[in-house]
Amino acid sequence: MDRAPAIEQRIPLSRPDLSAAEVEEVLAVLRTPVLSLGPKLREFEDAMAGLLGVRHAVAVSSGTAALHLAVRAAGLPEGAEVITTPFSFVASANVLLYERAVPAFVDVDDQTLNLTPPAVEEAIGRRYRETDRGWVNRDSGRLLVGILPVDVFGLPVDIDGFRALARRCRLWLVEDACEAVGSEVFSPSASAWVQAGARADVAAYAFYPNKQMTTGEGGLITTDDDRLAERCRMERNQGRLPDSPWLEHGVLGFNYRMDELSAALGVVQCRRFAELLHKRRQVAERYGRALGDIEEILLPAAVPGTRPNWFVYVIRLAARVDRDLLGRFLAERGIETRPYFPPIHLQAPYQQRFGYHAGVFPVCEQAARRTLALPFFNDLTEEAVGVIARTLREGVHFCVAAQS
Ligand SMILES: *Cc1c(COP(=O)(O)O)cnc(C)c1O
Repeated sequence: MDRAPAIEQRIPLSRPDLSAAEVEEVLAVLRTPVLSLGPKLREFEDAMAGLLGVRHAVAVSSGTAALHLAVRAAGLPEGAEVITTPFSFVASANVLLYERAVPAFVDVDDQTLNLTPPAVEEAIGRRYRETDRGWVNRDSGRLLVGILPVDVFGLPVDIDGFRALARRCRLWLVEDACEAVGSEVFSPSASAWVQAGARADVAAYAFYPNKQMTTGEGGLITTDDDRLAERCRMERNQGRLPDSPWLEHGVLGFNYRMDELSAALGVVQCRRFAELLHKRRQVAERYGRALGDIEEILLPAAVPGTRPNWFVYVIRLAARVDRDLLGRFLAERGIETRPYFPPIHLQAPYQQRFGYHAGVFPVCEQAARRTLALPFFNDLTEEAVGVIARTLREGVHFCVAAQS
């Protein structure tokens, strides 16, 4: 590879969008003695419940913690199976392993890279048989208890389809909306646009600094079910019952509390939510205009009935482009990229525990070899998108030539 010209400024993959207002709000908390379980937590939860259109929002210390409490609340006996996707961030399946349950992976749709209700229904019919107890795995005898779809990269799943399927099979539906805060999906049954996650039994969101909005570390559980919300509130706080004294613990719980500094950050991000959405959408549109004509690249696209708020901007490359070589080409020119996602079933703990090998989920594995996340954050300028587009164009040609 020829030497790249030195660039002054590296373009990172992501960067949080923080204004002076966030700084002020966090400093204001620091001037009080209440750094945990104070007024900001409730304020943040109320703001999120309003934005998402749900009855309950329970803030916790991370998206993983949110998902962990969500599946526990939904009901996850040891050894039970849950249908989920292998094309996701590893946390979406890890939370099942925390509870000694088993992820039953179903391959994703090639266009959306999400699970679809028909594919899940087909897998249920093929792998399980219906009994008095519910759907039982034909080989292992394990009980299927739920479906855990993920709105990958921010593209919402067919939530009405999953609701209907879950009802029909008497399974719970927990949505991992950790990549989809602000994404909307049209729900024919509600005949309205709804927020991703809002129509599941329980949903989880995440606020790590690379997500669409941030609290530093942080996560959120949403549900319309009073009992499930109550359980999550207890379990995030060491299992304390709502009115019990500080050192009495009615159920087993965790320390998954969100601190007041994080909640204060979240309160301001909620206030700025429309602005955050607008800026993010503009960057995606800039990319669309700048990259639309590169033949070897497939851009992220909404499917009908969805309005994604993209988490990451992931392109798919034609087979003749060496993705890893392209990643190095861009890195040498100061542009950070990342292959999103290596399949979960091929991560070491899953291979070791379940004996997975390459080839079992071909659509997921194929996508995983061809995807590349580009720098994507609200303050990515028109000029920076131009630089990225130009370098990407050169890189694609370089990589195609290197292959032939
Ligand atoms: C980010 C993410 C999580 C977990 O979020 P953390 O806050 O990092 O714990 C879970 N699932 C998916 C799909 C994610 O992208």
